[in-house]
Amino acid sequence: MWPAERDALLASGLAQPIDFDDGYEDDEGDFLFRTSLGSRGCTFLESTRGCRLHTTGLKPAVCSAVPREKREADEMYADRMLPCRSEWRAFP
Ligand code: SF4
Repeated sequence: MWPAERDALLASGLAQPIDFDDGYEDDEGDFLFRTSLGSRGCTFLESTRGCRLHTTGLKPAVCSAVPREKREADEMYADRMLPCRSEWRAFP
């Protein structure tokens, strides 16, 4: 996610610094953050199903934009970019 998205989550109290990695620069030179991982995947994954940021208005844009299909989901997961992928039921 973008730094501004991380900042907004921290400011809202919905997240703590431990919920993110230290950030990294991607292949295109953008500085981004990834969410921390728990036993089931993304730290924002609800205990039953779904994302606890879904109705907050602060869900990272990338989580709403992609993946558009199973192949893309699998590629993102393989690249450690979709930490809730293994919890999905619709895309076995
Ligand atoms: S949609 Fe998935 S990866 Fe994105 S914040 Fe929510 S649980 Fe994490």
